[in-house]
Amino acid sequence: MSQLSVRAARVPTDEGTVWRSMVSEYCCDEMQEAWEDGLVGFGEHEGETNDPAINLYRVDVWPEATIWTEYPIRFCPFCGTEILLETAE
Ligand SMILES: [Zn+2]
Repeated sequence: MSQLSVRAARVPTDEGTVWRSMVSEYCCDEMQEAWEDGLVGFGEHEGETNDPAINLYRVDVWPEATIWTEYPIRFCPFCGTEILLETAE
């Protein structure tokens, strides 16, 4: 059975380090679509993350600002498979 498998690592940049992530396997077609559409992803939706996690994203668009909210998930909301996240500092 397939499992959403994500590898993330800190990579050096000119300004320090940033998290980069890579999906090696998707658990189901729905998750692949959600990931590619940016509904689910690794870390903060915008900017650098301090919390390496797989998140569900919600966006609130206000006249003053656009606010992204992250909801960490441990299981796929579509097929129920546990999410595998491997991180390396
Ligand atoms: Zn799934």
